[in-house]
Amino acid sequence: MLKRLFAFLLTISPFLWGDSHIFVLHRFNDERFTSTSISTNKLKEHFQYLKDNGYKVVPLSQLIANRNKNKLVAFTIDDGYKSFYEHGLKIFREFDYPFTIFLYIEAIDRGYPEYLNWSQVKFIAKFGEIALHSYAHLHLTHLDPISIMKDTQMAIERYKINLKQIPRYYSYPYGEYNFDTTDVIGAFGFDAIFHQSTGSINEDSDLNNLNRIPLQNATDLNKSLSLEYLYTKWLEPQKYPDDGLLRKVTVKIPSGAEGAQIYVSGFGVWQPTRIKGDIAVIEFKQPLQLQKNLTRIFVKVNNKVGSTLIVK
Ligand SMILES: [Zn+2]
Repeated sequence: MLKRLFAFLLTISPFLWGDSHIFVLHRFNDERFTSTSISTNKLKEHFQYLKDNGYKVVPLSQLIANRNKNKLVAFTIDDGYKSFYEHGLKIFREFDYPFTIFLYIEAIDRGYPEYLNWSQVKFIAKFGEIALHSYAHLHLTHLDPISIMKDTQMAIERYKINLKQIPRYYSYPYGEYNFDTTDVIGAFGFDAIFHQSTGSINEDSDLNNLNRIPLQNATDLNKSLSLEYLYTKWLEPQKYPDDGLLRKVTVKIPSGAEGAQIYVSGFGVWQPTRIKGDIAVIEFKQPLQLQKNLTRIFVKVNNKVGSTLIVK
């Protein structure tokens, strides 16, 4: 009987169970930046796909409150470039899709030419939410906790003075974080904090560290939306190796997984791991010489994906 009820519930609501997806955008119609700019034609195409396939685009607050539901999507925009005001906003308005824009506050305060000004921000606030992307857009993992705190306080203060409200969300500059940054910024009591990584969120996600998928011209939307959240606890590495050599990855995953694969950014392929109980391990016979300051490590079990990052 229960089984039948369960099956019935599944058929009546496509929104009942599953994972939600948050996307992040930066610049619009800016051909100088191929990896962080999207054309408005492509954006329209992505939006139409969501509409035609039963996805509901909701404000962040609604997605976070319902993050175990399927087919919910939210859009975020980082930095606060003028190209959103000039090109992106009208596409959001055309589709009546809500959004949250995370501002690099100092750029606005100082009137940097490629960024919004406060009167444009106030206009944008009529259609979406405004959030923080730090004050000075620094590499937070290189700062001591007091400096991170001061930067965040300054961002909050300038936000409050200009917008007469309290910011609810924060996204890490460059998507970079570690235990310290999450601790310090988490203590400010934001409703949620975001980084940037392919994946999704559900009720097990840490609200102080939520995935957002970069949406680019080349993003395979269908594939991104098919990814589900994988609960992980990353055991090794805990930080960027001093010699830049990655020898081993160890991660706790849900027990009962029959296979898991690991992907290290910059090294191109998914590799099978050993699994012992609920621990997936991979040892690189030839240690990986990390080339970039930021390395993401992904673990995948079927279509469920989890990730972490280490920053130099
Ligand atoms: Zn940024």
